[in-house]
Amino acid sequence: MRAAVYVGQGQPLSIEDVTPAPPGPGDVVVEIGASGVCHSDLSVVNGYLRMPDGVVLGHEAAGRVVEVGSAVTRVRKGDRVIASFVPACGTCWYCEQDRSNLCDFEGRAAGATRGTRPGGSPYLAFTGLGTFAETFTASEHSVVRIETDLPDEQLALIGCGVTTGLGAALNTARVEPGASVAVVGCGGVGQAIVQGARIAGASRIVAIDRVAMKREQALAFGATDAIDPSDGDASRQVKRLTGGRGADYAFEAVGLPETIREAWAMARKGGTVVVVGMARVDAQVTLPAFGLFYDEKRILGSKYGSARVRRDFQRFVGLIEAGRLDVGAMVSRRIRLDEVNDAFRAMESGEVIRSVIA
Ligand SMILES: [Zn+2]
Ligand SMILES: [Zn+2]
Repeated sequence: MRAAVYVGQGQPLSIEDVTPAPPGPGDVVVEIGASGVCHSDLSVVNGYLRMPDGVVLGHEAAGRVVEVGSAVTRVRKGDRVIASFVPACGTCWYCEQDRSNLCDFEGRAAGATRGTRPGGSPYLAFTGLGTFAETFTASEHSVVRIETDLPDEQLALIGCGVTTGLGAALNTARVEPGASVAVVGCGGVGQAIVQGARIAGASRIVAIDRVAMKREQALAFGATDAIDPSDGDASRQVKRLTGGRGADYAFEAVGLPETIREAWAMARKGGTVVVVGMARVDAQVTLPAFGLFYDEKRILGSKYGSARVRRDFQRFVGLIEAGRLDVGAMVSRRIRLDEVNDAFRAMESGEVIRSVIA
């Protein structure tokens, strides 16, 4: 089957005819209906996230189970599933505490060899999925069965961007009705945070992004105000919009030390800063030590929207079906697998919220 393979930092993904290995007893094979192109895939290509050569990228997908291993119990052939880029094994300490976004099975899922490349060398699958392909083979822990008539392209986005953003607002921060919210960075995840804040009943939602299209989209998704940080001190503008105090919740969805500090500056005294963006593994952030104590701000990391995927995926599907969550409008472009490198370029130049291979 055709797949888009990472072959080295800064290199375009190589579209190759790979040969998947047969599924193991606990594995499933999923025919991919749609796969979103997410910033974390680009982070591998540009070296922010270090990977060996020979990894099929892609981690945000939906499709149908076409084959199951002999020990699989959670899904059956024919089931519609959303891929979960963090597996939810159900039995590790974190899964037992309802914190499946921190599942200990993650390393094992990501380390499995999934087949061979044309030259005979083995390939791995990004996050244990590798969805820039026609099918993926993964542990049953990495898929969640879904019952819905929604199109695959919307379900795919639930696999990463939607859950990461919506979950940050609803699970990690638990934004309450009437709260004020600032969102730094309005790509796919930031747009989902805006929608999560709206669903939670926030009364003021300030979207901050340099790209006009993303600010306009955020306003369409429920932001009450949009700020171009190139116009000057964005935190001062956020304070002006929040009674001079700053936001109750400031979300960072970029993954840079400077935008984490910006979000810190946007939160009010006693407010909450939520770091959602994926930074370089070697990046460090410096915060004012005096302010940590004096302003009593809380700073929270948010991985995968603190989601319990076996609860939240179907919950988010329900929000789409009820017309309260708009994922269709997050799909900017539909592309073919061999256009994935161009999708990275469009992402870097701020042309799209999401490109979806479908
Ligand atoms: Zn992602
Ligand atoms: Zn687990």
